[in-house]
Amino acid sequence: MSSRSKNRLVASKIVGHFRCAKRDLPWRRTRDPYAIWISEVMLQQTRVATAIPYYQRWLARFPTVRDLAGASLDDVLAAWSGLGYYSRARNLHRCARELVANHRGSLPESARALVELPGIGRYTAGAIASIAFGHREPVVDGNVARVLARIYELEHDVKSTAGMRALWDLADDLVPADAPGDFNQGLMELGATVCTPTRPSCPICPVRGLCSARASGRQETLPVMPSRKRASQLPLIDSNALWIERGNRLLLARRGLGGLYGGLWELPQTDDLGQLEALLPAPIHFLPPDHSPSRQGRDGRDPPPRRRQLRSGLEPVLEHRQVLSHRQLRIRVYRAEIRGLVGKTSELRYSKPSRANERDGSDRAGDYNDDARYDAFAWHTRSSLAKCGLSAATRSIIDRLEEMYGWSKNEKRSTSSPKDTKRSSPA
Ligand code: SF4
Repeated sequence: MSSRSKNRLVASKIVGHFRCAKRDLPWRRTRDPYAIWISEVMLQQTRVATAIPYYQRWLARFPTVRDLAGASLDDVLAAWSGLGYYSRARNLHRCARELVANHRGSLPESARALVELPGIGRYTAGAIASIAFGHREPVVDGNVARVLARIYELEHDVKSTAGMRALWDLADDLVPADAPGDFNQGLMELGATVCTPTRPSCPICPVRGLCSARASGRQETLPVMPSRKRASQLPLIDSNALWIERGNRLLLARRGLGGLYGGLWELPQTDDLGQLEALLPAPIHFLPPDHSPSRQGRDGRDPPPRRRQLRSGLEPVLEHRQVLSHRQLRIRVYRAEIRGLVGKTSELRYSKPSRANERDGSDRAGDYNDDARYDAFAWHTRSSLAKCGLSAATRSIIDRLEEMYGWSKNEKRSTSSPKDTKRSSPA
């Protein structure tokens, strides 16, 4: 069979299979380019089951490009909170503003115009152009790469430049003019449900008779992938954070845009332990982990806290460890109190922390704190946290320390002045 005939047969089998066997997913019930764009961005690196509730909440909250463009970045990051890869949310917001400013609030139809927009790469442009507008454009993502590498027995590392070029060329040859959207979705669907990374279901695959990897018994060893680093080999980011509560409120800082977690709220932190005391605009005093503000003296007043200065061997109250896609994160949290009022939002910045704690000098690790200059500090209650963009690390730290100290339990008794609010008791 000629390669052209094989390609035509592969394409028609994939389209036919998709039309019969596709899963009923919310973004497949619409041709709205905006909704398809949102779904495609959310689905990158995220499972379908995880993405569905985010997608539904997002469209309820920002039903159009104009609604997204008119929202604050804080609102956008809050809606994205938990999905990870926060630059995608920032880019969605930036792109929506660009669409309102220069495209009358609509996505352009052609992949060439789409790829010029902030945050839209070749994959997303191809997906929107083919699925929403019916243009003959290819897509290549991880699922597509695996399926094509197996059907055509590609020997290239699929993540290499040569491998990517071969995959895009192949996808471009295959995509049919009369059903580009169904073909592209069919390839992705096949990779997600049949031609899975391990133990592909070849006996029920619509292209089993055309698949070179199956014919040679290599379906489990293709595609060729670069060797993955073990978690322990990834660059380590060391960070030191402050847990400062006042009544039922917790002091958080918002990272400036740029770098990892840009625009998200977190416990104030820096990679240089020696700079923790200089991080905030008012003096702080470190507290021992077991300090209990509820231990009152006979006169009903709090005894003065047992303060410790950092250099006298202060212990963290908690250590958070997490493996990210290209690095490991370790955050040690220290308990402290602050004197003086920090405004609701202040244009406060701190000097650039040192990079001394980076273990291997990789520049990938550096963007965690290099661009993390804060643009605001604020006291947050548990309910106001729900409206903030928080990383999974920050969320986990707050949940764990809430169990230890129960800081938010006095929320119902909240008063307007932090000074009047009684501290919650530690567990
Ligand atoms: S026959 Fe097997 S390896 Fe080939 S595309 Fe189908 S599921 Fe994948």
